[in-house]
Amino acid sequence: MTTLTRDHCLALDAADALAPLRELFELPEGQIYLDGNSLGVLPRATAAKLREVVEDEWGRDLIQSWNKAGWIHRPQTVGDKIARLIGAGPGEVIAADSTSLNLYKVLSVALQMVQAEAAPGRRVIVSERENFPTDLYIAQSLAQQHGFELRLVGADEIAAQLDGSLAVLMLTQVNYRTGRQHDMAAVTAAAQRAGALVVWDLAHSAGAVPVDLRGSNADFAIGCGYKYLNGGPGAPAFVWMHERHAQRMQALRVDQPLSGWMGHAAPFEFSTQYRGAAGITQFLCGTPSAIALAALECGVDSVLASEPFGGMAALRRKSLALTDLFIALVEQRCAGHGLSVQTPRAHAERGSQVSLIREEGGYAIVQALIARGVVGDFRAPGLLRFGLTPLYLRHVDVWDAVEHLVQVLESGEWRQERFNRAAAVT
Ligand SMILES: *Cc1c(COP(=O)(O)O)cnc(C)c1O
Repeated sequence: MTTLTRDHCLALDAADALAPLRELFELPEGQIYLDGNSLGVLPRATAAKLREVVEDEWGRDLIQSWNKAGWIHRPQTVGDKIARLIGAGPGEVIAADSTSLNLYKVLSVALQMVQAEAAPGRRVIVSERENFPTDLYIAQSLAQQHGFELRLVGADEIAAQLDGSLAVLMLTQVNYRTGRQHDMAAVTAAAQRAGALVVWDLAHSAGAVPVDLRGSNADFAIGCGYKYLNGGPGAPAFVWMHERHAQRMQALRVDQPLSGWMGHAAPFEFSTQYRGAAGITQFLCGTPSAIALAALECGVDSVLASEPFGGMAALRRKSLALTDLFIALVEQRCAGHGLSVQTPRAHAERGSQVSLIREEGGYAIVQALIARGVVGDFRAPGLLRFGLTPLYLRHVDVWDAVEHLVQVLESGEWRQERFNRAAAVT
């Protein structure tokens, strides 16, 4: 293997066509932010946009802004922008609520569909043991309510579960711990051949890797607004379903369970009887947050700004270059320090993060890195996670981050007591 140098990284940055995108973000001086997989950075456009929404639209125009500023249509207009990043069509995505709530809605619909089709043998929901806990908690609740069994298996055991008992396969495309990516088209096709529905969580995919929901013939998808979409802390999430299911929901008389007025076919008729809107709009529940959606729109725009440079395909090439570089540098420079790479080497199986594992001291090593301005995070029991966001990270940032990691390990500074105290959010 060639020996990598910092100069080599600087040369890669000088030749990087995506480099100008970094200017779209407020990046704190002296910090290398490797946590865009947990909370995306602040786009430069967001503060001014929020000032306008607060001062002009809310402060001056008040309630007229629902029409005048288009607040009421924001779940759909922002959804249409997200659609461009995930291989969905216009009118197929809405931005609303949280990932957990949207999962509750679509998984409930999927289970009700199976029940309405009187498929009594199909009683199993399969997911991954290592899926994000909120997804599993939501599935536990729905399995209990509707009389299904939730079966949790390892990623390599999924194929063996695809049989006539499977109602719904619920997977997160890119695993939040390992950064491992499923082949959406292949897994979807295999589950559908077994007669099941597939729900994809795109929390670590949207804005991170190219996604083709239509091309993969997926059934339902949900995802997060505050990670790679840079929508701000607690940003609205999104939800998509294949258009065939809008018709099936009607034919089977299945409603999403959070049947609030914003998902009604005519909310301002103030009818006493719920009647779901057509298409994806029926997945709305209550009043959208105009401020939060404005911030999310700025975040989504910051990803769409890559379109003139080749869009998600170009971001993907850079993401793989950054994760390859990070892995190579860790292997060359941290050898003998007990770190091993958890993230798959095969490009097709990798998201936009690298996870390292170490038996001891992982939390403290991450804290020592944060004190040096290199922000990653830690997931128990021994995972050090580094999100490598191609929109604003440079190759030299990867070099410098690993240099700090080498110093933290060689000096043993992570053993200091101050790095070993657990905070509420890790
Ligand atoms: C981040 C994440 C969530 C977050 O859900 P919230 O409802 O926003 O708290 C859900 N699922 C997965 C897989 C995630 O990575």
